[in-house]
Amino acid sequence: MSRKLKIVIAGAGLGGLAATLGLLQRGFDVDVYEQALALREVGAGVQVSANGTRVLHALGLGEALGALSWEPQGKVLRLWQSGETWPMFDLGAESVGRYGFPYLTFHRADLHGTLADAVRRIKPGAVHLGAKCIGCAQNGETAALHLEDGTVAEGDIAIGADGVHSAVRQSLFGPDRPHFTGLIAWRGVVASAGLPVHLLRPLSTNWVGPRGHAVHYFLRRGELLNFVGIRERSDWLEESWIAAGTTAECLADFAGWHEDLQTLIRGIATPYKWALKIRQPMSAWSVGRVTLLGDACHATLPFMAQGAVMAIEDGYVLARCLAGAPGDPAHALRRYEQARRERANRVVTSSSRITDVFHNEDLADGARARTYMAEHWNPDRVRERYDWLFTYDATTAAI
Ligand SMILES: Cc1cc2nc3c(=O)[nH]c(=O)nc-3n(C[C@H](O)[C@H](O)[C@H](O)COP(=O)(O)OP(=O)(O)OC[C@H]3O[C@@H](n4cnc5c(N)ncnc54)[C@H](O)[C@@H]3O)c2cc1C
Repeated sequence: MSRKLKIVIAGAGLGGLAATLGLLQRGFDVDVYEQALALREVGAGVQVSANGTRVLHALGLGEALGALSWEPQGKVLRLWQSGETWPMFDLGAESVGRYGFPYLTFHRADLHGTLADAVRRIKPGAVHLGAKCIGCAQNGETAALHLEDGTVAEGDIAIGADGVHSAVRQSLFGPDRPHFTGLIAWRGVVASAGLPVHLLRPLSTNWVGPRGHAVHYFLRRGELLNFVGIRERSDWLEESWIAAGTTAECLADFAGWHEDLQTLIRGIATPYKWALKIRQPMSAWSVGRVTLLGDACHATLPFMAQGAVMAIEDGYVLARCLAGAPGDPAHALRRYEQARRERANRVVTSSSRITDVFHNEDLADGARARTYMAEHWNPDRVRERYDWLFTYDATTAAI
C-alpha cells in the first residue's frame, strides 16, 4: 500500500467496533462516528457462541474477555408450566472440544468496553461521539458520511454499522419495510445473590411454551442473570433498547408459567420491552465504495442468539477482504458481501422459522409436549440447527 486507506464507519456498536479494531490491526486508518454522546451499551446480556469467540480471540481479546464473561456448562429446555427439563446441548468443555472455542455470555457493556479500549489503544481519537450520520455519498475516488451537524467525514471507503434503523442503508437502498411479528421481547437483569440455590445451576435455560418462550443465562462471572422473555402481543410496536415496561406487566405476560420463571421476573428492577420486527433478507449490501454490516443489513429475530455474533464476523471478514485487495476497495467490498451475505441471510430466515418450534401449541399439553420435544429437540435436530453456525471460521473462511 503506498498510503494507508482511510475508512469511515457510522456506528460504534459491537459490529462497528469489531470492524474498527480488525481494520486498525491491519494498518488501515479508521474513524468511527457514533450518534450517542457517551460510549456505552445497554444493561443487557449477549450470548456469544464459539464462532464469535473465535473472532474475539483472533482480535486479541480472548484473555480480557475471559475474565469478564460467564461460561455455561450447557443449555437446557424447560416446559413452560411444569418446569420439566430436557438437555438441549452441552457447552463448557464440549464447545471447546468440538468447535475449538468456548460459548460465553457477556454483559454488553463489558464486551463493548473491551472492544472500545482495544480500539483506543491503537488510535485514541478513532471514535467520534455525538456524531449522527444522516446519509452517505461517493464518487469514483472517495466515499463520505454526512453528519447531522453539517460535517462531511470523507474516506476511501464508508461503512454503515449503524444498526437496525441504519441511515447509511436508507441512503443506499431507500426506506425499508419492516413487518411486525406480533411478538415482543421483555428483557431485564437480576442480581444472582438473591436467587434460590436451585436457580444458580451453571446452565443457560430456554423455556418453551404456547405463544411464548423465555431464555436466561448468567453474566459477569455469574454475578447477574440476564432474562429475555418473548410473548405474542400486538399492542407494542417500538423497536428500542430503552423502552421500559413494568414488572407487573411482564408478570402478567407470563401468568400461568412456572414459579421459577415468575421468581426471576419479580427480581427484575426495570424490565424493558422491544417489538420484534422482521426485515426481508437483502439481495445487496454494497454500492461502489460503501457497504453495510451487522443489523444495518441483516437485522434478525434474536432466537438463534446470532445477531451480534454475525456483526462481529462481518467486521472481521471485511477487514480480511480489504487487506487482501487494498488497491481496489470496491472489489474488496464485493468480495466481502459475497463471503457473508448467504450466511447472514440464512441466520435471518432460520431465526424466523424457529419461532414456531419454540412457541408450538403442542407444548400446551404435557403428554403432547413430550412427544413434541422428542421430535423437535432430539440431538440430531439440535445439531442440524446449530452446527453450521458454530463451525464457521471467519478467520479462514473463503473470501
Ligand atoms: C432482546 C434481544 C436479545 C439479543 N440477544 C443476542 C444474543 O444473545 N447474541 C447475539 O449475537 N445477538 C443478540 N441480539 C442481537 C444483537 O443485539 C444485535 O444483532 C447487535 O447488537 C447488532 O450489532 P450492530 O453493531 O450491528 O448494531 P447495534 O448494536 O444496534 O449498534 C449500532 C450503533 O450505531 C449507532 N447509530 C445508530 N444510528 C446511527 C447514526 N445515524 N449515526 C451514528 N451512529 C448511529 C447506535 O447508537 C449504536 O451504537 C439480541 C437482540 C435483542 C433485541
